[in-house]
Amino acid sequence: MKRVKEEPNMETKFSVIDEKNIDKEAIAQAGQILKEGGLVAFPTETVYGLGGDALNKESSRKIYAAKGRPSDNPLIVHIAELDKLEAIVQEIPESAKKLAKEYWPGPLTMILKKSQLVPMETTGGLQTVAVRMPNHQVALELIKAAGGYVAAPSANTSGKPSPTLACFVKEDMDGRIDMILDGGQVGIGLESTIVDLTEEMPIILRPGYVTKEMLEKTLGIPVASDRTMMHADCKEAPKAPGMKYRHYAPKGDLTIITGEEQSVVERINCLTKSMREKGEKVGIIGTDETIAKYHADSVKSAGNRKEEETIARELYRILREFDDEGITVIYSEGFAEDGIGQAIMNRLLKAAGHHVENV
Ligand code: AMP
Ligand code: MG
Repeated sequence: MKRVKEEPNMETKFSVIDEKNIDKEAIAQAGQILKEGGLVAFPTETVYGLGGDALNKESSRKIYAAKGRPSDNPLIVHIAELDKLEAIVQEIPESAKKLAKEYWPGPLTMILKKSQLVPMETTGGLQTVAVRMPNHQVALELIKAAGGYVAAPSANTSGKPSPTLACFVKEDMDGRIDMILDGGQVGIGLESTIVDLTEEMPIILRPGYVTKEMLEKTLGIPVASDRTMMHADCKEAPKAPGMKYRHYAPKGDLTIITGEEQSVVERINCLTKSMREKGEKVGIIGTDETIAKYHADSVKSAGNRKEEETIARELYRILREFDDEGITVIYSEGFAEDGIGQAIMNRLLKAAGHHVENV
């Protein structure tokens, strides 16, 4: 699929903005840029988004170019008010109403049948549209100022980890977009859960903070998961086009080691020793519980196993830091595949190209 990444050719404005005391002028300026077809990166509660007017096909084209994203990988349309949903979809199923009531604004994206209003450029040629209402005051104000519909994928160069801080957006997007709104570190750190509501049974296409169990509880019916989410051996194409691309990839060669804690620590130390002898620069992703037990060029704790939210928040930052440190080989501990752990494991598995060793 066509992938064009244009050279940086513009000046990018950078504006620090406080969610609790929003600078109305900065929002008005950013909203105007979006209305005129420009691009603005902004914080959400999941990761930073790269926004453009979702109803302007030229803006969507610019988003693909700035990210170097394949143009068959559809964008999520962000709204700030529920009554804006009707115009961009053919119908709002009961399930969508229930989920919106429970989880919006929040880290849940719903796939619905699109209306004529949404250009094919925004949906990557699909007849469906992904919609979300983010839970971040800056994002909500910006969407309103832009006219109500902001297409926003994560604000990273395609293939790199999603940005959880504005400095990472700057690293990837400086000179390629009109403005960056710096709202500090994001709260969740992993992208939204995506649920497809266009078929009889709801199906999760990407795991996130809102889990299968939570969706089932709200809907009162079973919810399926796209099998390709966690299995490398799956021959089917993922239903979310973006999930087929190797995402979140650090420069170093990443392997996940799973198993009982002591065996994992021993195996990682053993692998690290032999790789360092071969001249590799090794980074390890451990947890607060284990990092003191590791010896490598760079050892980082992703957070506390008892609070997996901390791991979700730090994971992408760590992967980017290893890139900056010139790490060539990375070993990571595995995480439980339930709750937010499933989303963490899904992103790690993709970053590792499904390279896992169980000890
Ligand atoms: P990002 O915006 O970078 O978080 O990526 C958006 C994700 O949503 C990608 O994996 C897309 O493939 C997926 N997506 C967006 N729109 C649709 C859609 N209409 N149907 C299925 N997946 C979608
Ligand atoms: Mg992304």
